[in-house]
Amino acid sequence: MFDIRELYQEVIVDHNRNPRNFGKLEDANKTLDGYNPLCGDKLTLYIKTNNNTIEDISFDGSGCAISVASASLMTDIMKGRKLDEAEALFNKFHHLITSDEELDITELGKLAALAGVKDYPARVKCASLCWHTLHSVIQGDAAPVSTE
Ligand code: ZN
Repeated sequence: MFDIRELYQEVIVDHNRNPRNFGKLEDANKTLDGYNPLCGDKLTLYIKTNNNTIEDISFDGSGCAISVASASLMTDIMKGRKLDEAEALFNKFHHLITSDEELDITELGKLAALAGVKDYPARVKCASLCWHTLHSVIQGDAAPVSTE
């Protein structure tokens, strides 16, 4: 029988083993560090913006499978997005992993694979670390992000 949960697991395993957009972005005009002390996840986000658009984005660092997969999926979906679109996606993703309310998540695509962390509060921080870091970059914060 087709098991949707298994498919979601595969997405996470795949993006953890082969993270997309991994490595320093040489022509980034914004970088910010994020840290999740609860799990030990560390990442640096590199973003190249132009005309309020994310032209390119990458990350590096080290962390658990959930944090790496989330950053890989997030950077994939953010390329070419306007900053206000990126913020709307941030809000949607945050809702996906913290709320039981029904939500149209078609726009989030494969990020739906991370919905399961909702049941594990410690894992929510792993999944949301890169998102909070991106949100801070967009807000213009210069201080490193910590989930604590
Ligand atoms: Zn983690």
